[in-house]
Amino acid sequence: AFEYAPAPESRSIVDIKPSYGLFIDGEFVDGRGTSFKTVNPATEETLAEIAEASDADVDLAVRAARRAFRGWSRMSGKERAKYLFRIARIIQERARELAVLESIDNGKPIKESRDVDVPVVAAHFFYYAGWADKLEHAGLGPDPQPLGVAGQVIPWNFPLLMLAWKVAPALACGNTVVLKPAETTPLTALLFAEICQQADLPPGVVNIVTGAGSTGQAVVSHPDVDKVAFTGSTAVGKAIARAIAGTDKKATLELGGKAANIVFDDAPIDQAVEGIVGGIFFNQGHVCCAGSRLLVQESVADEVLGRLKRRMGTLRVGDPLDKNTDIGAINSAEQLARIRELSDIGEAEGAERWAPACDLPSSGFWFPPTVFTGVTQAHRIAREEVFGPVLSVLTFRTPAEAIEKANNTPYGLSAGVWTEKGSRILHMASQLRAGVVWANTFNKFDPASPFGGYKESGYGREGGRQGLAAYLKGADA
Ligand code: NAD
Repeated sequence: AFEYAPAPESRSIVDIKPSYGLFIDGEFVDGRGTSFKTVNPATEETLAEIAEASDADVDLAVRAARRAFRGWSRMSGKERAKYLFRIARIIQERARELAVLESIDNGKPIKESRDVDVPVVAAHFFYYAGWADKLEHAGLGPDPQPLGVAGQVIPWNFPLLMLAWKVAPALACGNTVVLKPAETTPLTALLFAEICQQADLPPGVVNIVTGAGSTGQAVVSHPDVDKVAFTGSTAVGKAIARAIAGTDKKATLELGGKAANIVFDDAPIDQAVEGIVGGIFFNQGHVCCAGSRLLVQESVADEVLGRLKRRMGTLRVGDPLDKNTDIGAINSAEQLARIRELSDIGEAEGAERWAPACDLPSSGFWFPPTVFTGVTQAHRIAREEVFGPVLSVLTFRTPAEAIEKANNTPYGLSAGVWTEKGSRILHMASQLRAGVVWANTFNKFDPASPFGGYKESGYGREGGRQGLAAYLKGADA
């Protein structure tokens, strides 16, 4: 137990309205459908009433995007860049407000939204602003042309960052956008809509339609949507792939993961333990590329586990707006139930569960940092995505065994390797079936680095030059 320091970032710096409409054609408008509540997961208080976009609302948004496409796609890249640079600068100017709002709506610690999410969001807009007038030099064909209207559906774990990954490259290439944020985290997307107004972005270039899965379905299956960009669960990704099969919509799917974080006996152990902790407990483990399976070489397993548990004992779980908080609130009651269920199954199947003693707040959704040892490949906890602060530990003897275990998953989004040997890093990177392999680090993101999966983690790449290909005709990265 410990006393929380007074929250340095107060809720008073954000202006949360009692209710929000949809952002269509440059204006906030009332939806024609019903509404739903978005809740602060750290307190369970209702933050605002949000419009649930109906099929008719989605149709209006797509029509607005289509009208805007004519002007936006013909505008010079240099002009489009000016708008993207302007948006990036406003994001920097309003960074504190965005970070606080993200932490309130999502539950993530303020030090993460302030130091990771929002700066990386701004970096994405700066990066793709830089490409807008250089598309013909991207190696994606001599006369790159935009696709048209992009329908984008995003999850709740990095609400603003996933928006940036989708909106920035789409706009840079001359597309217009209809974006649906996740139902538990709509507020920063709506603040982003305000930022679009502040930047004088032409009406209809960005449209934000809030709602649940049915709104997402209406967006991706609308006949006038040319491109579908989805980030979320593998189950929904598959449903979307089926829904758009047989159409000429271009699609990118960024789906789930079950990353292996592999620690060899020559690794710098303290650094590796920090990487393991960051790999799984960053953002409460609500990370598609979370290092949720620790593969540790048998000869150092006891030492690594001992140090890991000591380090876990120092993690602070609690108020997301307290700058000392390491682990914030679980995003929703549903997600908490899923984490509890899979953890209970882990125990029932014979794995050993450990969590440090920690005082959890009495209201809100919370789960302590948890590690399972004695885990085998057969355990569900080793195979399924928990999407929470839960680490499964497996051991290996040889590099070949580590590769076999790491690849023994339907997913293939990311992996981490900890070793002093450069040749081993290169060997492992070539053998691991994962879109990203980090060496002696984990969860590092840069707008210039492409990100995406193998196997059931999806297809297509976001970020970097490759991220442009997803929004241009005939381009393949
Ligand atoms: P989810 O699939 O339940 O929802 C994602 C979004 O899809 C939400 O906006 C939701 O409303 C919408 N949706 C639901 N059903 C739909 C349908 N039938 N058609 C269209 N849209 C629909 O996922 P989630 O719980 O919000 O997010 C967690 C998942 O996202 C995890 O599996 C995680 O690994 C994955 N994720 C992947 C990446 C990546 O880059 N690969 C990044 C972040 C999260």
